[in-house]
Amino acid sequence: MSCVRAAFHTLGCKTNHYETDALRQQFASAGFTVVPFDEYAEVYLINTCTVTGEAGRKSRQMLHRARRANPDAILVALGCYSELEKFLTDVDVIIGTGGKQNALAQVCDLLRARGCHYFPGPGLCATGRAADSGTAYEEYGSVFQQSETRAYVKVEDGCNNFCSYCVIPLTRGRVRSRDAEAALNEVEALAGAGYHEIVLTGIHICSYGADRGQPGWTIMELAGQMAAVDGIERIRLGSLEPRSITDEFVALAKKNPCLLPHFHLSLQSGSDAILKRMHRRYTTGEYREVVGKLRAAFPDPGLTTDVIVGFPGETEQEHQESLAFCREIGFSRLHVFRYSKREGTLAATFPGQVDKKTMIRRSQAMIELSDALALTYHRRQIGKQQKVLLEQSGPDGLMTGYSPEYVPVRVASNPNLLAGQIVSVTGIRATSEFLFCQ
Ligand code: SF4
Repeated sequence: MSCVRAAFHTLGCKTNHYETDALRQQFASAGFTVVPFDEYAEVYLINTCTVTGEAGRKSRQMLHRARRANPDAILVALGCYSELEKFLTDVDVIIGTGGKQNALAQVCDLLRARGCHYFPGPGLCATGRAADSGTAYEEYGSVFQQSETRAYVKVEDGCNNFCSYCVIPLTRGRVRSRDAEAALNEVEALAGAGYHEIVLTGIHICSYGADRGQPGWTIMELAGQMAAVDGIERIRLGSLEPRSITDEFVALAKKNPCLLPHFHLSLQSGSDAILKRMHRRYTTGEYREVVGKLRAAFPDPGLTTDVIVGFPGETEQEHQESLAFCREIGFSRLHVFRYSKREGTLAATFPGQVDKKTMIRRSQAMIELSDALALTYHRRQIGKQQKVLLEQSGPDGLMTGYSPEYVPVRVASNPNLLAGQIVSVTGIRATSEFLFCQ
């Protein structure tokens, strides 16, 4: 360990978190001392996000906070916000969404320029290798020291969809799939490090393999291979698009002994007119059909989704349609987002931007519906046995974890219960937030 401290902060999606974990591991193995972000450090790395205006604001705020903590620190901005905002001031290293692994080499160069020769020179840096940020999947190696009890395995980057409101294809580029062998090596390393549950993550994981054009390259084929890895008991999928839930997908999902019965099926709106303006490529009818297929294959699976309220031009009737559709589907939880105008997207040019007051009201209505749906779903779990992956204990003496269906569970703590264990418990009481078990 050197006396050079590096602190990391992540905003945004699970993919960003995975990449930060990889960088943290690289910096630690290169000899840096990794410290919490609120501590004094010589190097601060902030993996930024710009998916909403709020995420961009927080990214700027964290950069300022790091600069205030140590005015002489090497400040590195990475990720989607720095991809779009190329002219960040008072930042020493700016890296977009590609080439994040160059951060280590660039920081070492700056340290050497400042007279610190502890770290390896150009070409010698063991892990700060250059990456092709444009067309190839950027391989981070096996990230087996992760910040959560569930391990994230990134298998894909980029998106080809160009939904009219989304900047991600502009910041992350087109679909790039990870080599199956590298992903499997990582899963083996994670199992060896004691992880029991993995979450397959990426920007648009159901496009996995689309850039390879070879048979057998689908997310479910890959999940099938991962299920054969010794020590892996549970596999969870990140966000899915309805169109990807084909009969073949469902058949492979059913056959996979580790796949958890939780599907995060991106909806965005329950109004067909809005879906069309969003350039989403399905209708509510097709969505309903897909949910039917999943429910026929899995008894009462966890079904979560993302919903945007206040999309440009959204009328009161369209908002009501969206609420009614979510109620009809009976999700186990909704993730509600207020539409956020992102420059460079088509939707930013649409007329009828919804005012803030209406946006807040619609968002509250959707959140209330989400709470009611979650309570209904949680109540249905009372009396059932749950296999819960324990994650952390709270100050109230209860441990939190997640059921296979991704219901947040609370259970009385005792010295024999440890984070990372999978325990069998039974639901006894439900709120919209938790299922309490014993
Ligand atoms: S599918 Fe649409 S919302 Fe999702 S990342 Fe791609 S463009 Fe963005």
